[in-house]
Amino acid sequence: MTAPAEVIMQLSRSKNLMKRAKRLMPAGVNSPVRAFQAVGGDPVFIAQAEGPILTDVDGNSYVDYVSSWGPLILGHCHPDVVRAVEEAARKGLTYGAPHEGELHLADIITKAMPWIEMLRFVNSGTEAAMSAIRLARAATGRTKIVKFEGNYHGHVDYLLAKAGSGVATFGLPDSAGVPPGMTRDSMVAPFNHLDSVEGLFKEEGERIATVIVEPVAGNMGVVPPAEGFLTGLRELTRRYGALLIFDEVMTGFRVSRGGAAQLYDVQPDLVCLGKIIGGGLPVGAYGGRRELMELVAPLGPVYQAGTLSGNPVAMAAGLATLGKLTAELYALLEIRGKALEEGILEALRSCGVAGQVNRVGSMLSLFLCDKPVNDSQTAFSTDRALYARLFHALLDRGIYLPPSALESWFISAAHSESHIEHTLQALTPALEEALSQ
Ligand SMILES: *Cc1c(COP(=O)(O)O)cnc(C)c1O
Repeated sequence: MTAPAEVIMQLSRSKNLMKRAKRLMPAGVNSPVRAFQAVGGDPVFIAQAEGPILTDVDGNSYVDYVSSWGPLILGHCHPDVVRAVEEAARKGLTYGAPHEGELHLADIITKAMPWIEMLRFVNSGTEAAMSAIRLARAATGRTKIVKFEGNYHGHVDYLLAKAGSGVATFGLPDSAGVPPGMTRDSMVAPFNHLDSVEGLFKEEGERIATVIVEPVAGNMGVVPPAEGFLTGLRELTRRYGALLIFDEVMTGFRVSRGGAAQLYDVQPDLVCLGKIIGGGLPVGAYGGRRELMELVAPLGPVYQAGTLSGNPVAMAAGLATLGKLTAELYALLEIRGKALEEGILEALRSCGVAGQVNRVGSMLSLFLCDKPVNDSQTAFSTDRALYARLFHALLDRGIYLPPSALESWFISAAHSESHIEHTLQALTPALEEALSQ
């Protein structure tokens, strides 16, 4: 299935393609982390994928723990999803008019997450977060927003802000090209530190429109919510008349069918979705209580539109995917996740490496540090250089981890017991190699 580590992997086609790609696209990629800058070296070009396996243009195959950054909960090319996409494509790629696929997908989502009474489909998680915030500001007539350090909500200008330290602070832009004025109303608090959110509300409570949070942080590695954090956010926002937005683009249908809101039993006012609900095609959505969603155009004054929103092929991929997400499937993902977690901890022990595995179901990450990771400060203490060496040692052994120490790994239903076992067999020698470099 995979090349043994002693055999030097042939990567000449990938290298040639990358040379050409770098002249045509920034760093040769269309989304930054794909460029391997956090781990060094050049990315491999993928030729095809099936189940949990990626195959590159030189014919090497890898057990894939990126899963396209979250959407592929069924693995690559699930036959039912592919069939649904083919059938939908034959009936038209886009109509720019209502069709039943939108209705069916909206129906499934609102049943799985009853706190979403109404929703609007968009084309990405970025759009979902941007639109949800616009709506929250309109609904409250306020402008300030609170986000958390290390939480990612897409690349909207005013969400590209994080605090430089562990203290709550006013947002400074995290990207060039974002004028300071854009993030003036963004306040950033440390994730899992309720007291600092409380402090912000005490000072600015009447001006805060919304708190947006990844209920399980997954964009600084996986950091589950601390006991009482989400319920605390729910109480604070309610007390001050602000809206609570759960950005479940990653966690929706991932940590449970009802997402993190169901898992932790906290109901937000608005939810952002993406990734899994598109089954591998570009789909996002935002939704919530009816009276809020009725503010969206053309019913209400909050303008938001999309040429390809509700695209029939994308809706079909989402429908086919969500249709497979049974309680048995989540139980299976939990078993696989647990096996991987335990195996990683075992390998760390046997190699004498300090590390933490944070996991919620099939979302998992390894932090190479000696303290428990419960916020961005502890997450950023991971040994990134060691992770980079481990990443390459595993890639050479046919295991494809996220090319950054601060990203979640995703297990899919296509990862069998033997794929996990194969991964764990490669892990100890890979760790030893990484430590010896
Ligand atoms: C991936 C992600 C986004 C952005 O989604 P895109 O489709 O990449 O725009 C937003 N929020 C969270 C929590 C995400 O994980």
